[in-house]
Amino acid sequence: MQGNMQKQGLLIPDLLEHAAQYHGSTEIVSRLVEGGIHRYTYADALLRSKKLANALARLGVQSGDRVGTLAWNTFRHFELYYAVSGAGAITHTINPRLFPEQITYIVNHAQDSYLFVDLTFFPIIEKLHNHWPCLKGVVVLTDQDNMPETNLTNVMCYEDLISDESDVFEWPEFEDEQAATLCYTSGTTGNPKGVLYSHRSTILHALGSAQREGLDIDSESTVLPVVPMFHVCAWGVPYAAPMTGAKIVFPGAGMDGASLTELIQTEKADLLLGVPTVWLGLLNYLDQQSQVLESVERVVIGGSAAPVSMIQAFDEKHDAFVIHAWGMTEMSPLGTVCAPTRALKDLPKTERYALQSKQGRPVFGVQLKIIDDEGKECQRDGVEFGRLLVKGPWIAGQYYLEDSSALEIGGWFDTGDVATIDPQGYMQIVDRKKDVIKSGGEWISSIELENVAVGHPSVQEACVIGVLHPKWDERPLLLLVLAEGKSCDDSELLEFMSGKVAKWSLPDAILVVDTLPHTATGKLMKKDLREEYKNFLIDMGE
Ligand code: AMP
Repeated sequence: MQGNMQKQGLLIPDLLEHAAQYHGSTEIVSRLVEGGIHRYTYADALLRSKKLANALARLGVQSGDRVGTLAWNTFRHFELYYAVSGAGAITHTINPRLFPEQITYIVNHAQDSYLFVDLTFFPIIEKLHNHWPCLKGVVVLTDQDNMPETNLTNVMCYEDLISDESDVFEWPEFEDEQAATLCYTSGTTGNPKGVLYSHRSTILHALGSAQREGLDIDSESTVLPVVPMFHVCAWGVPYAAPMTGAKIVFPGAGMDGASLTELIQTEKADLLLGVPTVWLGLLNYLDQQSQVLESVERVVIGGSAAPVSMIQAFDEKHDAFVIHAWGMTEMSPLGTVCAPTRALKDLPKTERYALQSKQGRPVFGVQLKIIDDEGKECQRDGVEFGRLLVKGPWIAGQYYLEDSSALEIGGWFDTGDVATIDPQGYMQIVDRKKDVIKSGGEWISSIELENVAVGHPSVQEACVIGVLHPKWDERPLLLLVLAEGKSCDDSELLEFMSGKVAKWSLPDAILVVDTLPHTATGKLMKKDLREEYKNFLIDMGE
């Protein structure tokens, strides 16, 4: 027997309709790419999104068409999220930091009909447009005064495009399983793969992520997502914020310490979200300027592991609580959150920081398990580690335009991460499977070594890779970027690290480098480094 309840679909534009009706005067603030600050309300955002939806119809964009964006976090990108998906088409967010070949591939693979681009990224279009026979036009996200000069044809100005349109638009009704947003993984090997979110999965993800045990967003929050809208939808903030009526502060292209500090302080942001490298820049800037963040209560850190030293710096210097979170493009992205439960907050500081450096527990809707190479489930004892598998209504079942399922037996998705789960259910990422260092019969976590190394005051960034060793197969090599004006000798650093990690896992060699390579999503790019340094220990005569 079925239940008797209404079959009301979970559709994305309803989030903005709700925000406009019940939190209509709540602000959305953006740092403009053209310079200056833009400020309007949810009520304004709804009207402009409707104008844009009418403009899209005029351009001939149809249900299911892909509309690409190459854009920072601003109010115009926000309008695209609602107008494109709300009209039944698919918002395809493109990461401008990808290599040109990857961007070329992605636009062709997605068959984008139009591209909406920020001024910053217009040169990418000028360079690559010939490779995209699918493209009907380009819209520059600016006003007439700031339009770039170009020889390209069919380039439009966003503000002109929508200015004469009506702000009345009836959002079409459709099944909530319909596709809404397309986001490609950064693909360190092979071509990027598309993950196609539906309206339903997006709303369920927003419901799951906004809750207290998630990112804890409500109508009193002022949320500043530094995490870009061009990568996994800024962790769903553009959906969760209107759902709850939170004020949004979009940083535009200003991800540096000075720009972020100014925006945080003037807008009184209390919830920040971003990857560790961004916070490193912010914390360094604040130290140099002897400034303290006044308004910030919580900082969500994900994308890469949050080092204990960062959790401690936010807590002790800025009275801000770090919420460590984990997820991936295939998971919309939220999987686990290390939420500030009473038990966690009551722990003595060192134990609390240690727990906060775990990636946390699943938000309701996500199931996790770890398995060994035979497929047997590992113990949840915080020690045994295995392949991390996930399941849930906002997790991909297959990749865009691929025929086969992306799932294992039982409907589980293999994350490619290796993790432990403790008896309280806290998951800790040990490594990406391909980054784990296999030394003799033991596995060494590169993440653990990196996190300990960056705790040393002379170290700005650390990267550990496995390199060949004649006796142990692989041993860890630690590559370091030193903090400005600092020096540090190997024995001092090894002394600092001993006692914090198992002695046998300490790196065999330490090498200071000027910079470390990062992927388009800000993660350390270890593949090329492994190749470059593969014989480092052998050449040293180990
Ligand atoms: P992406 O799909 O680009 O968002 O990357 C997802 C991957 O980033 C995950 O599978 C993890 O390997 C890594 N990742 C995300 N969050 C964390 C975290 N908090 N700690 C460690 N690794 C993370």
